[in-house]
Amino acid sequence: MAGSGSDMRVVIAGAGGRMGRTLIHAVAQTKGMALAGAVDAPDSAVIGRDAGELAGLGANGVKITADAAAVLQGADGLIEFTIPAATLAFAELTAAAGKVHIIGTTGHSTEEEAVIAKAANRATIVKAGNFSMGVNLLAALVKRVARTLNDDYDIEILEMHHNKKIDAPSGTALMLGRAAAEGRAIDLAQRSVRGRDGMTGARCAGDIGFASLRGGTVVGDHSAIFAGPAERIELTHRAEDRMIFARGALHAALWARGRKPGLYAMADVLGLKDV
Ligand code: NAD
Repeated sequence: MAGSGSDMRVVIAGAGGRMGRTLIHAVAQTKGMALAGAVDAPDSAVIGRDAGELAGLGANGVKITADAAAVLQGADGLIEFTIPAATLAFAELTAAAGKVHIIGTTGHSTEEEAVIAKAANRATIVKAGNFSMGVNLLAALVKRVARTLNDDYDIEILEMHHNKKIDAPSGTALMLGRAAAEGRAIDLAQRSVRGRDGMTGARCAGDIGFASLRGGTVVGDHSAIFAGPAERIELTHRAEDRMIFARGALHAALWARGRKPGLYAMADVLGLKDV
């Protein structure tokens, strides 16, 4: 697709998906950015379709392909909202080419996270469980509140998403859990309770609990609840449109362009590290 010489040229991976289509819209609306390619899985029905048409924009001449390596050659980076296994294959490509890699995909295992961290020796990766400005600000607030309140305040993270979501708890819920754990200076892996059923016994002080609801078309609701003796603080974010994630991902890509390889978070992009 046409763009000026200094435009950042990006490949959208998962182009046929909910986020992929939204990203194709967002790229078309973003100054300084051009669509260099659109990629989906080899067995996907969208291969060969015009990316703009599929996204409801009208034809833009970019055909969706399964050959990410080919389209990445003419691009500055790749923005990927797909599935965890695909992230690893894309990370190999972006690392080999020393390019920007924006990872929006969630649900990676600890082993997969380690592979991504290794790829960041050569690729400039920004990975976030949630790319919206509001949620990243929420995470900074959760960390701040958790630092102030002691174990008398039980921390519970509640999330709700649409009925097609395949992983739980959401990447964002885990991100909020990590923020709370950082604020308390504890290890989330040691203290997280992922759902409760049956005779669980009483809640242990200091645990961070997670609960997931699924239904309808909910884009993403998240609450961090600090339940104390006779009072409760609830910090909530409600996403109303996927465009907030797409805009954040593009903002991250522009920020990452020309930056040295490494694994960055949205807090780095937004300058929220020291909140
Ligand atoms: P979706 O199922 O609508 O789309 C995923 C797309 O990826 C599909 O088109 C699928 O064919 C494609 N895909 C699968 N394997 C592939 C491969 N090997 N190569 C290329 N494409 C491949 O899902 P979605 O709702 O768009 O969400 C995608 C991911 O993004 C999920 O992990 C979701 O949790 C995450 N997400 C993250 C954020 C964020 O801000 N970080 C926001 C929304 C969704």
